[in-house]
Amino acid sequence: MTPKTLFRLAVLGLLIVAVSDVAPGARGAAWLLLVACALVYMLACWVFPFRKCPACKGLGCHHGGFGGVKLCKRCDGDGLKLRAGRRVVNAIRRHRNRLR
Ligand SMILES: [Zn+2]
Repeated sequence: MTPKTLFRLAVLGLLIVAVSDVAPGARGAAWLLLVACALVYMLACWVFPFRKCPACKGLGCHHGGFGGVKLCKRCDGDGLKLRAGRRVVNAIRRHRNRLR
């Protein structure tokens, strides 16, 4: 199990505690931790807006069966993908600019 999977399971556990009646005494702390996780994620999206492309693992190309090299279709060969949170921030900014 990777650290990323463990972190996701911990966040899921926090969400369950925050929403359900499993541990009513810890509900406030769970919400606080969830908000802290969201803030850290938004900070990460601001500082590091790109992540490695999952299709080519950041290489930008695929090796064919006969020794050929093709550019990755998902990232157009740059090996980077915009994070989901950054896409949300960009959409909000676009919407705000449209309203002005
Ligand atoms: Zn790629």
